[in-house]
Amino acid sequence: MADIIKLLPDHVANQIAAGEVVQRPASVVKELLENAIDAGASTIKLIVKEGGKTLIQVVDDGIGMSVTDARLSFERHATSKIQSAEDLFKLGTKGFRGEALASIAAIAHVEMQTKPEQDEIGTHLKIEGSKIIFQETCATPKGTSISVKHLFFNIPARRNFLKSNQVELRHITDEFHRVALAHPQIAFQYYYNGSELFNLPSSNLRQRIVGVFGTRANQKLVPVEEETQVVKISGFINKPEFAKKSRGEQFFFVNNRFIKSPYLNHAIVAAFEGLIKSGTHPGYFLYLDVDPGSIDINIHPTKTEVKFDDEHTLYAIIRSTVKHSLGQFSVVPALDFEQDQNLEVPYSYTNKGAEIPKVEVDSAYNPFAESKSNTAQMPRKKSTKGWESLYVGLESKVGQDVDFSSLSFESETITGSVFENDEDELLSVSTTFQLHRKYVVTTVRSGMLIIDQGRAHQRVLYERFLKHGTSADAVSQQLLFPLELSFTKNEIGELALIKEDLHALGFAFGELNDESVQIKGVPVSMTETDVAQVLDQLLTDFREQTVGESFSQTDRLSKSLSKALAIKTGDQLDQDSQLALVNDLFACKETTVSPFNKRIYITITENDISNKF
Ligand code: ADP
Ligand code: MG
Repeated sequence: MADIIKLLPDHVANQIAAGEVVQRPASVVKELLENAIDAGASTIKLIVKEGGKTLIQVVDDGIGMSVTDARLSFERHATSKIQSAEDLFKLGTKGFRGEALASIAAIAHVEMQTKPEQDEIGTHLKIEGSKIIFQETCATPKGTSISVKHLFFNIPARRNFLKSNQVELRHITDEFHRVALAHPQIAFQYYYNGSELFNLPSSNLRQRIVGVFGTRANQKLVPVEEETQVVKISGFINKPEFAKKSRGEQFFFVNNRFIKSPYLNHAIVAAFEGLIKSGTHPGYFLYLDVDPGSIDINIHPTKTEVKFDDEHTLYAIIRSTVKHSLGQFSVVPALDFEQDQNLEVPYSYTNKGAEIPKVEVDSAYNPFAESKSNTAQMPRKKSTKGWESLYVGLESKVGQDVDFSSLSFESETITGSVFENDEDELLSVSTTFQLHRKYVVTTVRSGMLIIDQGRAHQRVLYERFLKHGTSADAVSQQLLFPLELSFTKNEIGELALIKEDLHALGFAFGELNDESVQIKGVPVSMTETDVAQVLDQLLTDFREQTVGESFSQTDRLSKSLSKALAIKTGDQLDQDSQLALVNDLFACKETTVSPFNKRIYITITENDISNKF
């Protein structure tokens, strides 16, 4: 048989390798920024246009490259950073594979201008799809500038796979954050479509965090410092009260390299146990310095995962260090440990006629109540009014027919209410009780219903939001004193995108500037104290698109709002509230599934029961 094996031509091999290295514009940004850092730059400029699809440029003032190096840098496995396999065990640089530039040049139009400090004249080089278009001398300042245009120009499948500019920009900005946080001493500038997004001078870590996340970040930070034989830990954690619905502010760096480690993340979460509400995540910026020989950063092509020699020890050290910091900065003792159970105010669902919602502080919430038990089960207490006000201003009465005919629901196709054939069955609902602060149990003629209280309430709120969101005049309550809420630039950008839709649901916005948003009005069903948390939740949902893209923006936001505002597992409901919830649920158009398509209740018929005996 004739020989059939051939070596792939370089440009094909490069394209294949590129598939691993370059997933999206943000990967290019990461590689270029890291090269600039490895080159010892003290100032780095990042310029991006249209989600990085048309331009990504990184300009540094690092060591630059000679004429020959400039050409060689685009060869695969060409690197100045390691020479032998042993070097892999004492890595001090970000890069080492010598693949990035070759890969990028295989799938884009790349132009480089570079000059070492001591040279008079620099090199200008242009490559498109691994083909050198020209290489000539040029006048250029010390350092290197690389621009990448028309990413994936020769791989349409990849190009089409890219998300909207907004989404790609977010990935790029995430990458920028990681690099900027890993190197506070390096100055960074970041421009998007011609305007400056970040201008971060060389600074210390605290200043850098504030530069990235806004001035409000400062008050959240608690320093963390520990040195042991295996690891040196430094950085900050956010105070527990600033725990967020999103994981946006969780950063681990190992030897100044951003990494993801669910295992070590767990160590921190464990240290926060009992201090934060379930469903929220602590923020942290932790820097681990370990012996490069004790880690293996080679297990992932994009190098965000690291293998440690002794993960268990690290876990224990991190957990106790974080705990220590929480205690030392009197974060822990400052909170209230004792709570008189007699002061608990149960929910009430009475007096629904009140027109003006009151601002309520969740004064009964005690994060330490039963802190030894699983946090997810932690009972939460709210004041009476919090629950009541969810309904204030909404005209529909319990049991009254609500006209939803003009609305469309995602669950239109799902039918089959248990009461379909027996309309007056519900009238027999008279007794209810609450089970495990999670279910409301009620009897109906045919047997017994066990209702998930959170999902039921989500359904009720969702349908009300949809109704109001689609009516021209959303019901909004003006705040006497507008709220000023801080956000990151990223979040402000996202808020701007959904502002109109939020308006339709009853939010009234004042000014949106770089770091904060003025809120002048909120939907009637919301209390002022909920606003920050609810917006946080909305942004998280928006970002992660957890509520799906199927329907209108209003539909998505209504779902998200209902999730944020609904009562939760652990909330205690008094008799009236339980009854009202049941009635409200069965006044809904759809009663069987939550807005997120989860079953709301189960029925146990008398038959089922007798069969057990
Ligand atoms: P790696 O970073 O893994 O070595 P790259 O393909 O990213 O591989 O870069 C190849 C080589 O090009 C680097 O080893 C370095 O010598 C050189 N290089 C790349 N970017 C720069 C830069 N901004 N300044 C100076 N040298 C650079
Ligand atoms: Mg590199």
